[in-house]
This record gives sequence, structure tokens and C-alpha cells, in this order.
Amino acid sequence: MRHFSGDFNGVRLLMEDELDLIAGGDGEDGDELPVLPEVIVVAHADHTSYYMPNHFNWGGGPGPVHNYNPEPSDAASIRVDVMINRPLTAVEQQALNDLTTSIQNTTDAIGAIPDTARVTLSNGKTVTGAELKEIWALTDFVINEAGFKYANGTDRGEANYANGNPVVSFNISTLTGYNQAEGGMNFLPLHELGHMTGAGRAEHESFSAGTSSYEQSERLANDIAWAIAAYSGEQILAAPNGGGYSPNHPLFTK
Ligand SMILES: [Zn+2]
Repeated sequence: MRHFSGDFNGVRLLMEDELDLIAGGDGEDGDELPVLPEVIVVAHADHTSYYMPNHFNWGGGPGPVHNYNPEPSDAASIRVDVMINRPLTAVEQQALNDLTTSIQNTTDAIGAIPDTARVTLSNGKTVTGAELKEIWALTDFVINEAGFKYANGTDRGEANYANGNPVVSFNISTLTGYNQAEGGMNFLPLHELGHMTGAGRAEHESFSAGTSSYEQSERLANDIAWAIAAYSGEQILAAPNGGGYSPNHPLFTK
């Protein structure tokens, strides 16, 4: 495992052994979609970025990106900014590597869902494949030091829709915690994506207005995560905290 607490600006491609780590190794599963090992690390003076080009052509761009340096446009790449200016522990670095794999899995899972496929949630709202792609293409991540406090009052993380240019934040302690649970890291981005859909935002507004509970808002995000994972066969948490899943497990239909 390499650590570099960069006080330089530079881009490098990951070495072969790191590629195996980040891509999950050779022949780990039988997915028909390729999991591309393009995770580019950029060291800045005060933080480290990882970015992963989107190999789908969403949003009418010129097509999958083949030139990764400099970083492609926001819509063609997902970035993780790690705002921690110290060497990560081996457990933290593993959790971060697993997050990048989970992000690539999410990109593939969403890419497999047709634009017109839809799932209808417990609040009567629907989510389409097209909506997921639109949100996910512009989503980026920020990882903060343990103890960092968010506007939602937690020191775990937040999903900020930010008028359609979403930023999902997690504390490093949240990543290492979820990484201990079977399917936890695959669940994490899918759950936050669920919160950022129109259906998820509506349920959160109901919760804020006092007409829906915290558990209902969490369950709806969990249900969206389940529907995406079920479509692609991805394994996620069997029993997430804070509301679990709806027993009927709503699914995408064409
Ligand atoms: Zn949540």
C-alpha cells in the first residue's frame, strides 16, 4: 500500500497492485459489464483527490472518456476529495479504495437501468433510470476527518443535492464503519443517491415539515438503493439501520 501525503501537485496513474485493490482483483465476479480500473489519484498541497471517469455516455457528451489527464468534465467523471492532510491508516485507505470500487459499481449499476425504467416508492413518487443517471453524473464526494460536524447535526455525513450538482460527504470513520459490514460499502453511495432523487427529497421535506418520520425518509432511500442493487445483482446491506427496507421491496419495471 502506498501512502503519499502530497505537498506537491501532480497526477499519476495507479500502480498495478493498486489497480487490483481498487478494481477488486481479477475475476472476482461474473459481471458482464467491465469494471474499469481507472482511478486517478491527484495529490494537492492540502488534500488528495481520486477521480473515476464515467465510461457511459450520459448527457449527450462526445462519448466515453479515453483521455484521463487532465480530469474530464464534471459530467464525465466522479471525484472524491479526501480533506485529510495526514497519512491514512491501512484500514482507512482500504475503506477509501473500497469506496472508489463502490462508486464504479454504482456507475455500472445505473448504466444497466434503461432511462424509461421506473420504480414507485412508498410515498407514491417514482424514480426513473434517466433521473438516476442525471443526478449521478454530476455527483462528487468529500471525505472529512472523524468528528467533522454537518448541518444535519451528525458527524457521519450528508447528501447535499445542491440544486442538481450534488456533493455527498462522509467522515472517514463512517467509511471504515460501513466497510466492516457485508455489502455496507456498496450500500452507502446507493442510499445517498436515493436521498437525492426527487422522491427522496420529497420524503425528506415531509420529514422536515413533521408529516413524515426520520425512519420513513431513511427507508425510502434504502428502498431506492435496494431497487438499483436488485436490478444489477449487487449485494448490499441486508438490514440497514434507521428504518430498514419496505417489506414489499419495490423494483424497477420497464
Ligand atoms: Zn440516510
